[in-house]
Amino acid sequence: MTLPRQRIAILGGGPGGYEAALVAAQLGADVTVIDSDGLGGACVLTDCVPSKSLIETSNAMTLLKRSAGLGIATGGLANVNAARLYERITDLARAQSRDITARVAAEGVRVIAAEGRLVGPSTVVRAGDEEIKADAILIATGALPRVLPGAEPDGERILTWRQLYDLTEIPRDLIVVGSGVTGAEFASAYQALGSRVTLVSSRDRVLPQEDEDAASLIEDVFRRSGMTVLGRSRAQAVRRDIDGVTVTLEDGRTVTGSHCLLTVGMIPRTEGCGLDQAGVKVDARGFIEVDRVSRTSVPGVYAAGDCTGVLMLASVAAMQGRIAMWHELGEAVGPLRLGHVAATIFTDPEIATVGVSQRAVTAGEVSARVLKLPLATNPRAKMAGFHDGFVKLFTSPGTGVVLGGVIVAPRASELILAVSVAMEQRLTVEQLAHTFAVYPSLSGSITEAARKLMEFTPDSL
Ligand SMILES: Cc1cc2nc3c(=O)[nH]c(=O)nc-3n(C[C@H](O)[C@H](O)[C@H](O)COP(=O)(O)OP(=O)(O)OC[C@H]3O[C@@H](n4cnc5c(N)ncnc54)[C@H](O)[C@@H]3O)c2cc1C
Repeated sequence: MTLPRQRIAILGGGPGGYEAALVAAQLGADVTVIDSDGLGGACVLTDCVPSKSLIETSNAMTLLKRSAGLGIATGGLANVNAARLYERITDLARAQSRDITARVAAEGVRVIAAEGRLVGPSTVVRAGDEEIKADAILIATGALPRVLPGAEPDGERILTWRQLYDLTEIPRDLIVVGSGVTGAEFASAYQALGSRVTLVSSRDRVLPQEDEDAASLIEDVFRRSGMTVLGRSRAQAVRRDIDGVTVTLEDGRTVTGSHCLLTVGMIPRTEGCGLDQAGVKVDARGFIEVDRVSRTSVPGVYAAGDCTGVLMLASVAAMQGRIAMWHELGEAVGPLRLGHVAATIFTDPEIATVGVSQRAVTAGEVSARVLKLPLATNPRAKMAGFHDGFVKLFTSPGTGVVLGGVIVAPRASELILAVSVAMEQRLTVEQLAHTFAVYPSLSGSITEAARKLMEFTPDSL
């Protein structure tokens, strides 16, 4: 006798939702995804994919600016064709969403284009007019840009990052409010694209949550590029003027510009999802509470991704979604391991991190040896004509096992994998040092840092 297929309903088709759908379908479940805006979610349509596409263009501009030093005569300043740039970005995002839709359909997943919500404390979901009975539900509805009272976006001059791609120009004087990851990435990109950028940061330095050495380096790069960085400056209000904007700071100072981009965090997108009626518990900020296998407070209801506020990354959303399905469908599953997440801030240069942080080491929470090797001595960096960056490794003082690292470099997002593999596989600095790196290469700095750390391991004493 064949058992009936388990029915899974997924609310939201971003990475948290569609990756879960793929796993559940692969495991033989009958899967329905309900999504209101398009598969791929905000990740593909408005956030991660568009911003990284924009940054590819801004990186090309930086390269052009550096080209004179590499012996190339460009014959004047390169200009950005804003219409073409934004069109490319939106086309790319839509194409990616279509690819995901096709992939999900090929796996036999049913997709309903509608708003969905939970119906009471059960595993029933309403999608438009339809009621879907499921054995388990996954909520993966994502998050929305937080709006400051007194600084409401108008989509023309006062913008969230989701409205940037509707512009017809590169902002002449862009004020970026918020110096977290999103603010720093857009400030870096638009400065390279030709905007005069003012970055308004409420904290002492930009990227306050990140590795201090990396954040200081980026702030220095920002200032050298001509960006104005206003530290300890909290924006209170943003007003639209005739042909621009005025940002009023808490201490009464004002900053004027042509456009203002607000990057002041995210709120969970759960309004109207029926969480209250279903009894799904949320935290003080409204994010859905989940355990490390993505279970909510209601049996049979899981949640994944930005709506949980666990760690707002596409890779984490996808993993939370997959874990939920493995758990529900009886597969062997380990809990989410946040300490192993590799992340990148796509400034120029990029900041990539994995494993333990300098903050934890300095606070004495983790015992680690730390070695920081500037990229300025790397032969490949010299050939390419860049000087800003470093490789930092954290290792266990007793065993020499790699505990994590920070890389600041162009394409650090690619380089960090070597450190991730070393950490995941519990390799020692000696094993890393004995690994061949190409000469000349930036990754040569990783093995060089490992060689330097070998001086401290017990075997080499
Ligand atoms: C500017 C920016 C850049 C980023 N860059 C990166 C990056 O480089 N790397 C990285 O890993 N992460 C990045 N992120 C984070 C990443 O985009 C998010 O972590 C990711 O989108 C979370 O996926 P999700 O599935 O939780 O939600 P989302 O991607 O937001 O998808 C949620 C989906 O649910 C749908 N939905 C919502 N409510 C309902 C409802 N009631 N009924 C039906 N459907 C509904 C929405 O329409 C949407 O399609 C970036 C974020 C921002 C803001």
